[in-house]
This record gives sequence, structure tokens and C-alpha cells, in this order.
Amino acid sequence: MAKHRTARRTPHRGIQLVGLTAALAAAAGTAAAGFNAPTTSTAGTTLDAAQAQALSTARIERRVLASRDTTRLSLEAARKAAAETKAARDAQARAAQLAAQTALTKRRAAALAAAKAKAAADAKAAAAKAAARKAAAIAKAKAEAAARAAAPKVVLPTTGYHLTAHFGQAGSRWSSNHTGLDFAAPLGTPVRSVLAGEVIQAEYAGAYGRQVKVQHANGTVTSYSHMSEFTVSVGDQVSAGTQVGSIGVTGNTTGPHLHFEVLLNGSTQIDPEPWLRDHGVNP
Ligand SMILES: [Zn+2]
Repeated sequence: MAKHRTARRTPHRGIQLVGLTAALAAAAGTAAAGFNAPTTSTAGTTLDAAQAQALSTARIERRVLASRDTTRLSLEAARKAAAETKAARDAQARAAQLAAQTALTKRRAAALAAAKAKAAADAKAAAAKAAARKAAAIAKAKAEAAARAAAPKVVLPTTGYHLTAHFGQAGSRWSSNHTGLDFAAPLGTPVRSVLAGEVIQAEYAGAYGRQVKVQHANGTVTSYSHMSEFTVSVGDQVSAGTQVGSIGVTGNTTGPHLHFEVLLNGSTQIDPEPWLRDHGVNP
């Protein structure tokens, strides 16, 4: 209230007193007129040189301020732009890093899946191989069992014996090498056919003493010599293990024993030991 009254009484001093704010207001009001020409203030008074100078100064200051503002705004904008650029770059870098991480994770997952698949395939192949081996083993066992079942049953020709002469052995008792296998056993011990067949001979045969011959299905003949007695006759059908006579000392012999021979096709003398073993018995 006091300032208002003072301004009304002394308009010149009033402008100077109110300072820059008032000067700016005055300038705004008289902008169209320029500052050398006499002009009319809001209060209706004419501006003198001092007033014009003040106005000019105010305008310059305003420009400086505006310029400062502009500079400040520009700096702020630049800072903001830089910050935005940096944020964008950071975001881009983070996104790239994330993408790389994701790609790595995917590659690792793919590698793991591939390894798992390979392991599974290997296990499957191994299982198939094992199954095939097992099947082959079962088939082999079955074939062997079938072969055993199909093969004629063979037994040893006597019991409680020990072998005293082998096939091919040289000796003073024989004109040529030994033609059979000698089983020494106590007198009277049963002598049995080793294989099923038909009795084709049961007679005294010189150096062989009492001799029985049995012919088997494939034509092979087995002979039993030096026996004390016969318990079968020619034409009898015998099984493996059927008694044909007993241990004796008949013919060319120095002690009670069985002279056992195997004749392929009834004529060719072969080593009885491997033949017996081939038929599943071990003399
Ligand atoms: Zn003999």
C-alpha cells in the first residue's frame, strides 16, 4: 500500500525503485515503439533518456538471462540425451548379454539332450546285443541238449576196473600193436554192452577167448573178449548196459580182464578211448 502511493507521487523514481520486474513490465508494454522514440508508459508519462537506458539495460539483461536459460536448457537437454543414449546403450548391452546367455543355455541344453540321446541309444544297442547273445546261448544250449537226446546213450563196459593196456601199444602178447582197450577187474564182474544193438557173435574165438560182438545202428561193432561166460545169444537185442558176459581169463591173457574193441563198419579197429569220450563217457 505504501509503495503504491509513492509510485503515484513520483513516477520517475517509481520505475527505478520497483527494479527489474517493473522495468520488464514496462518494456513489455512499449515493445512496439522502440527505445529512442518518446513513448507512453502505462501510467501515461513520456520516457526520458535515463528511462530508455534502463529499458535497454533490462532488455540486455533479459536477453542474457534468456541466453543463460537457453544454455542451461541446452546443457540439460544434452545431459538428458546423453543419459538416454547411455541408458539405451546399457539396455542394448543387457539385452545382448541376455540373448548370449539364452543362446548359451540353449546350446548347453541341446548338447545335454544329444548326450542323453546318445547314451540312451548306446544302452539300447548294448541291451539288444546282450539279448542277442543270450538268445544265441539259449539256442546253443537247446541244440546241445537236442544233440545229447538224439545221440545214442553209451555206458562203460564194466565196473571196478583199472586200464592195463591202451590202443596201439606194443607188447609181447600181441602179434601187432594192441587193437583195443584192456579193463582189468575181478573174475566174474559183469560185462555190459556199451550201446544198444544186436548180438552178432557169442563164441570162443582163439586168442580172444569167449567173445561177444554187438552191432549198433550206424554199423559200428563193439567186441568183448576173454570172458568167463556168455549171458546173451546171437540175434539178441540189447540195450546200453545189458550184461553180455563176465570178466574171465579165456584166450591169450595173463590175468582177468576185458579186452574191448570198437570196429567201424564192423571191420576197422579204432582207438576206443576217444570214441567212448566222444559218446559222453570217460574210461
Ligand atoms: Zn587187450
